[in-house]
Amino acid sequence: GPKAILEKKKKYIMPCLAHFFQDPPEFVKGSMQYLFDTEGKKYLDCFAGVSVINCGHCNPEITQKVVEQVQSLQHVCNIYLTENFVNLAEKLAEVTPGKLQKSFFCSTGSEANEGALLLATIYTKSSEFIALRNGLHGRTKLGMSVTGIGMWRTDPNPCGGISFAPNPYCYRCPLGKKYPECDLECANQIEDIIKTATSGNPAAFIAESIQGNAGIVVPPKGYFKRVKEILEKYNTLLIIDEVQTGFARTGKMFAIENFDVEPDIMTMAKALGNGAPISAFIASAKIADTYTRPGASTLGGNPVSSAAGLAVLSYIEEHNLLQNAYDRGVQLREGLAELAKKHPIIGDIRGLGLMNGAEFVHADKSPAFNELDEVLEEMKNRGFIIGKNGISRNVMAFQPPLVITEENINDVLNNLDDVLTNKKL
Ligand code: PMP
Repeated sequence: GPKAILEKKKKYIMPCLAHFFQDPPEFVKGSMQYLFDTEGKKYLDCFAGVSVINCGHCNPEITQKVVEQVQSLQHVCNIYLTENFVNLAEKLAEVTPGKLQKSFFCSTGSEANEGALLLATIYTKSSEFIALRNGLHGRTKLGMSVTGIGMWRTDPNPCGGISFAPNPYCYRCPLGKKYPECDLECANQIEDIIKTATSGNPAAFIAESIQGNAGIVVPPKGYFKRVKEILEKYNTLLIIDEVQTGFARTGKMFAIENFDVEPDIMTMAKALGNGAPISAFIASAKIADTYTRPGASTLGGNPVSSAAGLAVLSYIEEHNLLQNAYDRGVQLREGLAELAKKHPIIGDIRGLGLMNGAEFVHADKSPAFNELDEVLEEMKNRGFIIGKNGISRNVMAFQPPLVITEENINDVLNNLDDVLTNKKL
């Protein structure tokens, strides 16, 4: 049971892996948008394993393809020829924006970002980077170094040559400005940073299209267009991290499409495998073709994970998940806006599609993280697993499987209303 596993975890798992709930359930089964614990209790999953399970838990159509592949050929390493990873790369070229064409497969988001930064260095011959404050890109040395969140920067001696730009967080503008009168000052500052904090032509600017861990920070319209204009003047590449936002999450295949901008390199992971470990970075042929020195990732794009990726892309298309993510997102944000009128603890609601955050604040706008924890614990007891993020851990995060129904959303909203009312928030 959960108590015994929790004890064992303390003994055998490194303590950096903190736990979400005070009284965590032990999950043993998943079925589409639902999870089940050891007691057989059913939960509506509103976090999807942090934006991984976009097509639902143990989705039968995807599971079948994965099982068939496990039974025929599990692994040879991609230095040998198999067809799945090549077919998946062809598909990715079709569904990603613009000229993005050639992929490199690995297994985690961190590796995809590390690879993308490396490719930018190969192409530009610079190893200077600009990243966003509050961004999160991974746990490798360089990935952690471009991560702008103190709590994730465990290494006291990160890589040099990295500058941070203010993030486009309008609810708490780091520059104290208001959109649109600000004229995107946060984007404009990237030019000053290039001129004053780099040797003049940094390799790349890396950003999530919507900052996930920072608390679902959705940039204002026009932000990435302005950024791209600046970068092009200095031959600096735009790397977009779609690890958390990709694969229909925001009602578009990739969140950057909401901003009408083509990245030079894009990274993806999580939902690409719907639980199978697979990640990739993709670039135009012009950029990708400079990566000629030998490089393979042993398990990258293995036949099984690639079969999962192919099945995910088919499922998204055949079941119109783009539309459902869009529609359910609108429904959720409208419902949350109604709740915010009654419950002042909800200070801001942000999101696109089914990537949504509700920021919990006190009357003076200070972060209400303890209250959020209480609400999340109570919602869990009622059978709803809801996520949490934000620099002050005060943002309620809704990133459910994209197969969630209208009735499911109403159910979450009604229970949330009830919990906030009972707790007088
Ligand atoms: N980029 C983003 C935007 C992420 O959210 C994460 C993980 N939460 C990563 C990169 C790192 O991915 P992974 O944990 O698969 O290495």
